[in-house]
Amino acid sequence: MEQNRRFLLKRRPHGAPVPDDFALVSEPVPTAAPGGIVVRNHYASLDPAQRGWMDDAPSYMPPIPLGAPVRATTIGVVHASDNAAFAPGQWVMGLNALEDYSQVAAGGFTMPVDVSAVDSPSRFLSAMGAVGLTAYFGLIDTAKPKAGETLLVSGAAGAVGSAVGQIGKILGLRVIGIAGGAEKCRRLVADYGFDVAIDYKGKDVAALSAEIAHAAPDGADIVFENVGGDVLDAELNNLAMRARIVLCGLISEYNAPEKHGCRNLWQVLVRRATIHGFLIADYVPRFAEGGAQMAQWMAEGRLRIDEDVQVGLENAYAAFMRLFSGANTGKLVLRIA
Ligand code: NDP
Repeated sequence: MEQNRRFLLKRRPHGAPVPDDFALVSEPVPTAAPGGIVVRNHYASLDPAQRGWMDDAPSYMPPIPLGAPVRATTIGVVHASDNAAFAPGQWVMGLNALEDYSQVAAGGFTMPVDVSAVDSPSRFLSAMGAVGLTAYFGLIDTAKPKAGETLLVSGAAGAVGSAVGQIGKILGLRVIGIAGGAEKCRRLVADYGFDVAIDYKGKDVAALSAEIAHAAPDGADIVFENVGGDVLDAELNNLAMRARIVLCGLISEYNAPEKHGCRNLWQVLVRRATIHGFLIADYVPRFAEGGAQMAQWMAEGRLRIDEDVQVGLENAYAAFMRLFSGANTGKLVLRIA
């Protein structure tokens, strides 16, 4: 009989997650609740945000309960339905979990998607999913860029960052990316068309500040922040007047039991800058609009969205940790089915 393998959060990680924080269990495949559906998950998105959801700390979502599967956005096929709006066999994307089958209650967040026009359903977790659209709406709607401005992106070789930089180029910005290691920096320029790439590894705030200043002598008009910590402190030393900082993520702090904080906040005042907190959940009603633009740019060859597809629910832990070692080369997804 087919089983439902589920990747559970067993205990809350202290610092970097370790394998014993999780358990892979097998349970019977669920049935559809009244008005609900059951989704056979094909791909799950592995996101830095999941690390935050593992903590019992105030956030924009409740913590993942201990003993529950790790929450994840997934794309899959309706396996069973007690809801006339969803037919078995239909592709849907929703906020589910790292498991073979997800039971979605009536009214749960699930949207139908048309996979016929994409090369892989996983595109709805990358280019046309929350990550690609974070780049799109975070840059366009939040920073309101003007051609000729200088954009500074951290985590630049990652899923969000590489898309931000490329959209910046499409919009006529000068784009500087910060990433870890020579190979990622090479790819920023060669594969994603950034104007300048800066390797942050092994550099303190002063050294990194100096490198940014060399690349952006007039400062950055827009900072798209994915990393925090020393990288953010160095960026704050290089703001143009009235700079806009899109605070998208702080990955350098997600596994830190003691948060680093921000030591150069004074520069926000000096430069009369604005910090915008950004959350993609606010843009769900506009996903179709952003997704259509991302798809068009990709079809025109102007936007390259790489995916790092890892395979197997049994490899969920090792796959997830690629985000924190920097091993992922593109949007990290886990193929489940
Ligand atoms: P990425 O594909 O960028 O993968 C994570 C990357 O972060 C790694 O490859 C690594 O790149 C870098 N990194 C990991 N640890 C550190 C560290 N200690 N210091 C500096 N860099 C580090 O992931 P995503 O594109 O999915 O996410 C990027 C950011 O965007 C995250 O902060 C995430 O939380 C945020 N985000 C926010 C959303 C929102 O709505 N606000 C939505 C989606 C994502 P390297 O090798 O260069 O160090």
